[in-house]
Amino acid sequence: MLVMYGGNMVEYGTATEIFEQPKMPYTMGLLESLPRLDQAGSRLIPIDGQPPNLLRMPPGCAFAPRCRYRMPICDRPVPLYDFGGGHVARCFLYEKSAEGQKPIPAENAPMIPDSAVAASETIA
Ligand code: SF4
Repeated sequence: MLVMYGGNMVEYGTATEIFEQPKMPYTMGLLESLPRLDQAGSRLIPIDGQPPNLLRMPPGCAFAPRCRYRMPICDRPVPLYDFGGGHVARCFLYEKSAEGQKPIPAENAPMIPDSAVAASETIA
């Protein structure tokens, strides 16, 4: 299975790996928002926020404005982390140098400077 967000692959693995051990918070959110036939009356948990505007992408992780685990390091480009067996995910939760960084509220995610937005709209 391949999970995409903001036009990029954020997680890849077998169906068992993705459903039983999701690594990326967007994948986790997707699974939490699935209807469960085995749990009567259970409520779906939506992912707060909106998908990114592809012309106004954040500088680091595209999911940062919606992520409950966002850390300062998430403003950098996110590498792929390898969990073995072909399971990979793009998330700083698995970065050793991020250990100890406290999650910061998603509503404080950085916005693209107006000058950068104006430039991208000029190009488009
Ligand atoms: S890289 Fe950071 S913001 Fe992005 S999904 Fe992982 S923890 Fe959340």
